[in-house]
Amino acid sequence: MSQHTIRIFDTTLRDGEQSPGCSMTIHEKVRLAQQLDRLGVDIIEAGFPAASEGDAKAVQAIAANCSRPVIAALARANCEDIRRAGVSLEPARRSRIHTFIATSDIHLQFKLRRSREEVLEQACLAVEFARTLADEVEFSPEDATRTDPDFLCQVVREIIAAGATVVNIPDTVGYTIPTEMHRLVSRLFEKVDNIGEATISVHCHNDLGLAVANSIAAIEAGARQVECTINGIGERAGNASLEEMVMALRVRQDALPFTTNINSTHLFPTSQLLTEITGIQVQPNKAIVGRNAFAHEAGIHQDGMLKNRLTYEIMTPESVGVPETKLVLGKHSGRHALRSHFERLGYQFSTFETDRLYRKFTDLADVKKEITDADLIALVQEFHQQTKLSA
Ligand SMILES: [Zn+2]
Repeated sequence: MSQHTIRIFDTTLRDGEQSPGCSMTIHEKVRLAQQLDRLGVDIIEAGFPAASEGDAKAVQAIAANCSRPVIAALARANCEDIRRAGVSLEPARRSRIHTFIATSDIHLQFKLRRSREEVLEQACLAVEFARTLADEVEFSPEDATRTDPDFLCQVVREIIAAGATVVNIPDTVGYTIPTEMHRLVSRLFEKVDNIGEATISVHCHNDLGLAVANSIAAIEAGARQVECTINGIGERAGNASLEEMVMALRVRQDALPFTTNINSTHLFPTSQLLTEITGIQVQPNKAIVGRNAFAHEAGIHQDGMLKNRLTYEIMTPESVGVPETKLVLGKHSGRHALRSHFERLGYQFSTFETDRLYRKFTDLADVKKEITDADLIALVQEFHQQTKLSA
């Protein structure tokens, strides 16, 4: 089965950075960009240079310090924004200007107060100008999922003819559902005759919790780039989460014949770095990178290993870079600490049971300096065996 490569476009530093509490200094942005480089993302959207001087400087600094990925900068579809994006991208080894304008009637009528024809002309002029300043040009018809599908087809055809190398279909307001996204992207492939000349991308928001599902539906219909962020941060409910996206494609290769250039063992460290920089914690039950994402697995680890890891494990913590938990429990640790470690592993014990387990634990701590999760689980299993025998 031949596998198509899906390009991972990371917008943590642009869409993600726009979310409340997530603003970063230039130094922090460069640090995160270098980690994204190690992670293996194909494109880093480094910022929106026309938005502020700080953003322009950050794009420049990232372009100068990350040579492997394509560096992208956002620009509205006007000459001044595009010129600024082009200047900021000058140090990039490979640059991309990402320009956009809204195409849905609701945005045209209330936000832009322009006709469809005017907007289409402006989009094409913007793409043509951007081509003179960057190696690649991406165009986004903002609010694409609420745009009249026939008009969307017309826009896509004309901006590809104007020179766009990537066409991104944004679900700007997080409104679509997977079947609808699949239908929309399929329609573009059927109706737009020059579609083969550009890469089709999607950018999904998570207002209904469907960002990753919608992105996968788009991939199945022919999209070959997905836009996502670390920990799923971004405007409102956030963007498609990069780690979920990548692991869904990896774990379900049987159903999804696609691959990415991501080194998944860097997923958890990248998530941790973002948390450290922004101070915003990941929810404990967040898939892949949440504190509890593998807690159940750890709780039955020993038992599962004896039978077959696959009984409870669809992926290993190591595959996403979660380090093996080494407990800081030693012979001087108290009952309370022991109890909370058990709770973290999914076990609840009465005071009486905790007392008995605690004695076993101190015996073990006498002979073993470092007590791991696996040791604690073995202890519990031994305890259950004995309780069963004495009952
Ligand atoms: Zn967005």
